[in-house]
Amino acid sequence: MFENLSERLSGVFDRLTKQGALSEDDVRAALREVRVALLEADVSLDVTREFVKRVQKKATGASVTKSITPGQQVVKIVHDELIATLEGEGDPGALKIDNPPASLLMVGLQGSGKTTTTAKLGRRLTEREGKRVLMASLDTNRPAAMEQLAILGAQIGVDTLPIVAGQNAVQIAKRAKQQATLGGYDVYLLDTAGRLHIDEALMDEVQAVRDAVSPRETLLVVDGLTGQDAVNVASEFDGKVGVTGVVLTRMDGDGRGGAALSMRAVTGKPIRFVGLGEKTDALEVFDPKRVAGRILG
Ligand code: GDP
Repeated sequence: MFENLSERLSGVFDRLTKQGALSEDDVRAALREVRVALLEADVSLDVTREFVKRVQKKATGASVTKSITPGQQVVKIVHDELIATLEGEGDPGALKIDNPPASLLMVGLQGSGKTTTTAKLGRRLTEREGKRVLMASLDTNRPAAMEQLAILGAQIGVDTLPIVAGQNAVQIAKRAKQQATLGGYDVYLLDTAGRLHIDEALMDEVQAVRDAVSPRETLLVVDGLTGQDAVNVASEFDGKVGVTGVVLTRMDGDGRGGAALSMRAVTGKPIRFVGLGEKTDALEVFDPKRVAGRILG
């Protein structure tokens, strides 16, 4: 992820930092290249425009062009603005799971990595935070998805709600809540059903589940490789069911990374975690500083 963007930007900035004094035209020319590089990485047009505008404003001041290392100053401004674009408020990894049993609703399209991410989070909460975790699949359309979660749960030593045939999503969610309460669990994760595309029935079901359990957190899982589509999916889900954060999966792949840069600016929702592989330990808390560092190479 970000390899192409990183390569493009380091080319631009190498040239800039090799020059001594910079004119405002030099800065403007460099920022034109930054703009193209961001658009090629599938960052949305609005976000790119705003980004370049902010950098330009800061970089054309006398303090930069008259400084001893103007090129490096511009790079620093870009670095800081990247962090500002990526960053939400507070610690992205701090889930609101006090007052047990806390419910965590996982939503997203089919194939986004929702079930895998549910298991990854279950494992993380168990191993790193010492929580007692219960996981439940609400995917009544796909028995295989329910079994997948049960298998992953057994592998990582996290309990899953026993599968009862014939129950609908809301009934399963209520049973999970009851079991979590009676069983003394700290948190229960609900892996909702996905569809290939957003449709009314899916949203109605997720809303009904949400209303039944009042989740403490609703995390949207989206495929980071899908660029602006991921951002559009996030806007739609947020509008219909309300989400408290986003998990971007497949950040280990060779996508262009635009989803990461546009997500918060477009949807107002922070990226909380990133998926970096298929294994259940391949989940990291989203770290804007590290991502900005990677983008600038
Ligand atoms: P769901 O339909 O949304 O529940 O998606 P799944 O959890 O079944 O994941 C679909 C596929 O994506 C599976 O083959 C997962 O192993 C894979 N996957 C999920 N997250 C990641 C990730 O972060 N990186 C990679 N490379 N693959 C992932």
